[in-house]
Amino acid sequence: MKNRLENKLSMKLISVGDVEVGKSCLIKRYCEGSFVEDYITTIGIDYGVKKVPFNDCKVNINIFDLSGDDDYKPIRIKYYKDSIGVLMVYDINIKATFDSLSKWEKEAEKNGLDLTKCVVVVLGNKTDLKKREVKTDVAKEWAKARGYKFYESSAKSGFNVNDAFKFLFNGMFNRTVENRAKYLYWIN
Ligand code: GDP
Ligand code: MG
Repeated sequence: MKNRLENKLSMKLISVGDVEVGKSCLIKRYCEGSFVEDYITTIGIDYGVKKVPFNDCKVNINIFDLSGDDDYKPIRIKYYKDSIGVLMVYDINIKATFDSLSKWEKEAEKNGLDLTKCVVVVLGNKTDLKKREVKTDVAKEWAKARGYKFYESSAKSGFNVNDAFKFLFNGMFNRTVENRAKYLYWIN
């Protein structure tokens, strides 16, 4: 039963966080293994599909990389619904971007996403820059209190990027399989 379900799996991931914290670069680092200093600003949303192998099957992860710019809010808010994974990013060198995380939670919830049903990974990005304004423990506690997984990362050096995505995808996969199994049980 599990293998048959995995073959058909398609899952939705969104990225949220203030502008310039590194959301697009983190996704690029994970998907392509590269980093660019002058990465083009996300206009509205960037969309891509990543095929990830799980137990010999390839699962489609639909990635919706949302712009943090409020000019694009009317576009962005259409993409929250039906996500199963959330990448929530701030810049450890700019406290305001950490303080914004609760604003991003509210926007997601207000637009149809129940975060308690999602796998949420919080990333404190840009650890390669040495101008830290957010203490690790403070952010870790914030994430833990909400049941979110926490890492610090660098899209530039690649630090923790694979681990974070691996955790996210595994969690999304397990949750989707559980949900499908429940659904199939119900319709049978
Ligand atoms: P987004 O608006 O959150 O999608 O941010 P981007 O991914 O477009 O990145 C914004 C800027 O931050 C770009 O100039 C990137 O090169 C830079 N950047 C992203 N991640 C890192 C990182 O881990 N370290 C450093 N030093 N710069 C980064
Ligand atoms: Mg972007």
